[in-house]
Amino acid sequence: MSTGTVAAGPAEPPATGLGGHLGAVALPPRAERGERAEAATERLRVAGVEAVAVTWVDNAGITRVKAVPLGGLVHAAQWGVGTAPCFDVFLADDTITTSRIIGGPTGDLRLYPALDRIVPLAAQPGWAWAPGERYTQTGDPHPGCQRLFARRMEAAAAARGLSLKAGIEVEWVVARAGAPQEGLRYPTDGPAYGMHRLTDLSDYLGDVLRALGEQGLTVLQIHPEYSPGQFEVSVAPEGPVGAADASVLVRHTVRAVSARHGLRVSFAPVVEPGAVGNGGHLHLSLWRDGRNLGRGGAGPHGLTVEAEGFLAGVLGALPELLVLGSSSPAGYLRLVPSRWAGAYQCWGLENREAALRLITGSSGERATAANAEVKCFDATANPYLAVGAVLATGLAGLDQRLALPPEFTGDPAGAAPGTVPRLPASPAEAIAAYEKSAVLREALGEPLYEAVLAVRRAESEQYAAATPEQLAAATRWRY
Ligand code: GLU
Ligand code: MG
Repeated sequence: MSTGTVAAGPAEPPATGLGGHLGAVALPPRAERGERAEAATERLRVAGVEAVAVTWVDNAGITRVKAVPLGGLVHAAQWGVGTAPCFDVFLADDTITTSRIIGGPTGDLRLYPALDRIVPLAAQPGWAWAPGERYTQTGDPHPGCQRLFARRMEAAAAARGLSLKAGIEVEWVVARAGAPQEGLRYPTDGPAYGMHRLTDLSDYLGDVLRALGEQGLTVLQIHPEYSPGQFEVSVAPEGPVGAADASVLVRHTVRAVSARHGLRVSFAPVVEPGAVGNGGHLHLSLWRDGRNLGRGGAGPHGLTVEAEGFLAGVLGALPELLVLGSSSPAGYLRLVPSRWAGAYQCWGLENREAALRLITGSSGERATAANAEVKCFDATANPYLAVGAVLATGLAGLDQRLALPPEFTGDPAGAAPGTVPRLPASPAEAIAAYEKSAVLREALGEPLYEAVLAVRRAESEQYAAATPEQLAAATRWRY
């Protein structure tokens, strides 16, 4: 693939302007935050809420939480909740590494609830949820905060007059709760995509739908997937940060509903080695002045020059993007040919084996429906890092007016060897690509870039000698 957007070696940062946009994430005045939290408190009290869970997703893709009683929400909004910076170098198994800039036992950050996203949790009575954002004690954006990174990249798009709509598909495997030695026992043995499976679990799936709807999410589709016990749900697109929030909320809602049905869930890339895994496909479309830039242009399948440049930037950067779109070494057990995971660095119209699938939609709806799907990502990604990094590399490609290479039609696994590049087959390969990415280094900023690198290296070493069975077992119930 010759569409790389990345200069070899982490030399001087490129002049992409992706490293800025700090003004866009400035903390609003304390009095304003207090007033908004008071209004939210009233609303939540009426809804029976007693406590608010404020989450952030770490660089290993684990959602961590601090919770406050509802009466403490105003204080949390004004002063933040204390969190340690070392969370930025946590691994998925809760061991802690360190990085060049962030790490160690000292320091304090303030975790602020995003007040525009607080919602009562339908399957956890008495609880509400808000995504959190981390600032320093002096009120500056924490350079390691992943949600603020995604917001900065949204601001970088806005500075170019662009906005994006995004959505992250959620796939999961549901099993009966029980002792680990009992192994995996699925609550349905219905076939892939089978109505049998939906009928067996109709109360459960109905409760998932109801809970998501009560939380203000518009479900587009829910269905049994290919692997045993596997299901998928997709919700309506939002802005990239909103889509990342939704992916956290959807997964924790599925988990909460499952627990109420005596079930446990896995969003891990591989639940059983050798089977089709759980993806976390990211859909996105690029808009300017209310117009979908995926249509009406002179590029392939009607792409405009800007959309083509954006997608070329993403396609060329997929090896390094995997570091952010698939955190766990287990992701490489999923990302193999002929499992619809998108293991090849190519693009194609409705091609489910291409890492970048172009979707135009049906005649009549294309102006709104056209979008692209990054298939190689999974749910071990920190979704804020995933959307932010895709934005960064896409905008870099757009700025350079990159062109897409020829489309690939059919199954790349059947192509002559060497014609279609494979995406990294191991964490080490993806890390090597990431280390060369000046675009991601600049966009993420050194502290976040380095913290991610430290976590990836540590997990890569941790599981270097693990068999697929050991790796799947170690990660199956962590995600
Ligand atoms: N479960 C597949 C994956 O690992 C994707 C199946 C689909 O195309 O929805 O990505
Ligand atoms: Mg699917």
